[in-house]
This record gives sequence, C-alpha cells and structure tokens, in this order.
Amino acid sequence: MDTILESLSPDQLVLDIGSGHGSFQYSKYNSRILAIDVAFDATPRLVSPDRILYARGDSQALPLASGTIDFAVCNHSLEHVARIRETLAELARVLKPDGFLWISVPNGFGFDDALYRLLYDGGGHVNRFSFEGLKSAVESNGLRLVQHSTLTSSFIYCNRPDDAAWPYLPRRSKVMHTIGVFRPISVMLNAVTRLLDRSCHTQLSQYGWGFLLRKGPTAVQFTLPSYFNVCASCGSGHSIHTLRTGVYRRWVFQFYRCPRCDKSNLLFIPPAGFD
Ligand SMILES: [Zn+2]
Repeated sequence: MDTILESLSPDQLVLDIGSGHGSFQYSKYNSRILAIDVAFDATPRLVSPDRILYARGDSQALPLASGTIDFAVCNHSLEHVARIRETLAELARVLKPDGFLWISVPNGFGFDDALYRLLYDGGGHVNRFSFEGLKSAVESNGLRLVQHSTLTSSFIYCNRPDDAAWPYLPRRSKVMHTIGVFRPISVMLNAVTRLLDRSCHTQLSQYGWGFLLRKGPTAVQFTLPSYFNVCASCGSGHSIHTLRTGVYRRWVFQFYRCPRCDKSNLLFIPPAGFD
C-alpha cells in the first residue's frame, strides 16, 4: 500500500473506505484523499485545504462518478461491510481504467480472528474471508490480482479501546481490561506466536492478507514487502528493511521504534519467505 501511495502525485485521488479517522497516515503522502465512513456526520469536513476531505458515505452506494479514483484503499474495513457484493462492484466502478485497489482483511479462519471474535462477541466482523474466496469475488468485477502479502497481527485489540467504544464491549472484556490482564496477554501472544511460527511453521501470528488489484494491465515493477513486525501500540506494520536503522538492543532482545507512533516494540526477524 505504501508503495502505491508514495508514487502518487498531488493531482491524483485516493479513496479511503471505512476510514474512521484515517486508515493510514495521510500526512506522509502528496495525493488528494477522500475519506469515507458511514459513521461521519452529514457535514463534509475539509482538512489541509484542497487535499483531504472527510465525508459520510456508504460503500455499497458510493457518492462518486465512475472512473474517478486512482487508488482505492479498504484497510481493515471489508470484514465490517454487510453488503460485500455491492461494495466490490462499487469499488470497481469508481476506479479509473488504470486504477489500483488495496484490500487488507483478516483470515476469517485464522487464530487471530477467532480470538478477536471470542473476546468481543464477533466485534462487528460480519464477513469471514478466505484468500481464494475474496480474490475470486473481487476479480469477478473485472479487477485482477497484481500481488499479495501476508499480514501479521500485533493483537492490538488487547489494548484498551477509546471511551467512545467502551460502552459497546462485552462485560467480560470490560472486566479483563479493568483488572489489566490484557496487556500481559498481548505481550505474551506477540512473542509466543512469532516464535512458534518461526520454529514450527505455524501461522498463529498471521492477521490475514493484503491484496493489490488493478483494473488495467497488471504488469508492475515492484514486489510487496511483508509486514512481520506490527506495532503493538498503533497497529502499523513495517517491513524489516525500513526498520533496520532504528533497531537497538536491551540485554538479549532487539527492539525498534515504530516509525508512526515512536513507541518501542520487540523486533522479530521474519522467517524465510517473509522478506
Ligand atoms: Zn506504532
């Protein structure tokens, strides 16, 4: 996703679907950004004049003309969308003929998603994706998979949510947050699942996948990195190549500072095939 965003110029337009406050760091990039979410109020809000616009909209009926978007981003949002077929058709409609689409979703049959659903009574995940199932659903709308990457979890949902989300938590989750057991559980899960994945070739630390799709010709001149290290504070994933310069040691452990939020995290060297 970063690779495409960095290549865009100020006159190009990115659509961030189900954006919340922003599903990626808007300030890092030059393009114009349209952030759409059903949770916004009805008044569009322009931030950084002429560059970032927040507007209420429904992904199944996007308030956009056809062929207007250079890059559409569905970052951890499609698992929450009730009418997924209509949403995928809308994404294909609004993309320019040479436009790109980025989708990141949880593996609906993996450990990370199962634990999330257990702790939060489903947590609003209304879709359960498999790799092939989502790929074929998107491609049936005329898009083609260019590349994909495996995404790793930081079990960030073990952090205490903000005050707005607190009333909606199941009672047992409120209790676990209040007595403070989630934080040590999160640290333990991050360490143990990655070590098991390295030594036993399990996929317990897997979050899901990132899909890069295109409406036009699929030939591109780059490869997607893996994001084996994911910040436990902000959930931002970074390739091992971008973290090498910020690594430091304490005792026998290696740490890195998250480029997005500057918090410290344990550094894990990806297993073969991940970098
Ligand atoms: Zn971070």
